[in-house]
Amino acid sequence: MPANYSPSFAKNIVRRSLTAVLDPHPTRSQLVVLIEHFGEACAYCGKRIHAYPKDAQLDHIDPDGPNNVSNRAYACEDCNEKEKRDQNWRDFLREKAESDEDFSRRERLIEGWIDLHSDVYIGMDADTRSRLTAEIETVVASFDRALANIRSMRPK
Ligand SMILES: [Zn+2]
Repeated sequence: MPANYSPSFAKNIVRRSLTAVLDPHPTRSQLVVLIEHFGEACAYCGKRIHAYPKDAQLDHIDPDGPNNVSNRAYACEDCNEKEKRDQNWRDFLREKAESDEDFSRRERLIEGWIDLHSDVYIGMDADTRSRLTAEIETVVASFDRALANIRSMRPK
């Protein structure tokens, strides 16, 4: 990927990194355990995927849930980026599974993963979420003001 210095990219990174302070992404060692749990195969379609993060991704099991390891499943790019989107994971798995047996086996794998981390699953409460959003928007508004000022410095 070429370097991206666009202001919108920078704002996106600011949003993500400030959010990750309260809602951290899985650590490297958690990733190793996760990949092992899912047997190096996509949690949904079962395709073998290797060498995270080359062609493997971390799906948000609950699209509205946290970033932490309890809410992440090993998934191929097609399932994670193009197909599942904001669908309920069970409905999506039903679509992808080729047989009832497939469905049950993969459902147990995902449920097992969620259960294994039941102590980790901390959704952000609405008050914290809105305070976080307010802080982020403060930074973004300041960034936008600076951006407008800098753009006005361009030679005419
Ligand atoms: Zn897949």
